Amino acid sequence: MSEPAGTLYIVATPIGNLEDITFRAVRILKEADLIAAEDTRHSRKLLTHFGISKPLTSYFDHNKILKGKYILDQLGEGRTVALITDAGTPCISDPGYQLVRDAVAAGFSVVAVPGASAAITALSASGLPTDAFAFEGFLPSRQAKRRERLASLKDERRVMIFYESPNRLHVALVDMRDILGEREVVVARELTKIYEEFIRGDVSAVIDQVGERRIKGEVVVLVAPGVEEKDAYLPLAEMLGSYLEGEGMSLKDAVKRAAVETGLPRSEVYAEALKLRERE
Ligand code: SAM
Repeated sequence: MSEPAGTLYIVATPIGNLEDITFRAVRILKEADLIAAEDTRHSRKLLTHFGISKPLTSYFDHNKILKGKYILDQLGEGRTVALITDAGTPCISDPGYQLVRDAVAAGFSVVAVPGASAAITALSASGLPTDAFAFEGFLPSRQAKRRERLASLKDERRVMIFYESPNRLHVALVDMRDILGEREVVVARELTKIYEEFIRGDVSAVIDQVGERRIKGEVVVLVAPGVEEKDAYLPLAEMLGSYLEGEGMSLKDAVKRAAVETGLPRSEVYAEALKLRERE
C-alpha cells in the first residue's frame, strides 16, 4: 500500500497590514489544489489582492466535521490543501486544530507556513518580559465565568496574553483589577493597522484611559505577573542556593559570604538560609 501523498499547509495570513504576508505563503496558496478558508468571502478579497485564483471551500467551527472529512478525502487523493483563517495563524483561537490532528493521524504531511499572529506581535512590542508567557486566548464572555477563570490564573508567574472583544475590554480590565490586583498591563490595539496603539500602565491607569472613550477595533491584553512578597528575596535565595547546592558550601560559610555580597545583616541571611533548608 502506498503512503498518502496529500499535504496540508497551515498558512498564516496578515492581521491587518497586507504587506505582512510572506513570499512563501503567496507561493503555497498559488500552488495549492484547494484553499480551505474560515470565511470564503473575506478570504477571496485577500486572494484577489495577491492574484491567487484557486478553488475555495469553507472550513469553520460549525462545519468542521463534515468539511474536515471532505478535506481529508482531498488529501487522500493526493491533493495539496492550504488552510487559512480570517487573520493571522490558523488554529490560534481559530479553526484548524481538529483538522491538523486528523490529518496527522491519517498519515498526511502537515506543514506550517508561519507568519503573523496577534499574540506574538503584541508581546514583541509590549515591553513586558518575553522569556516565558502564557497564551490564554479569549476569556469567557459571561462575567461569573470570566472572574472564575481569572481567579484560577491568580498565581500564574508568566506574562498572560488574552484576546478580547473591544466591547468587553473595559469590564474585563475591571475584573482583572478586582481578581488579580493592581498589575502592569498592556492593551495592544489595531496591530499593524493605521490606528495601531499600545496603552501601557497599571491596570487602573489603563482602565481610566479606556473608560473615557469607546475603544474600536481589535485588541490583545497582556498582563504582567503580580509581585509576590517572597520575590523580594529571590536574588538572596538564589545566591544562597548556588553557594549551598552549586558550590557545596556549609550553611555557615554560605551565610557569611552572602552577607558580605549583599550587605544584609547576617541574621537576616541566616533566616533565609534556614527557610531554604526547610523547603528541601
Ligand atoms: N488566529 C489569529 C492570530 O493568529 O492572531 C487570532 C484570531 S482570533 C479569532 C481574533 C482575535 O485576535 C481578536 O479578537 C483580537 O483579540 C486578536 N487580533 C487579531 N488581529 C488583531 C490586530 N490587528 N490587533 C489586535 N488584536 C488582534
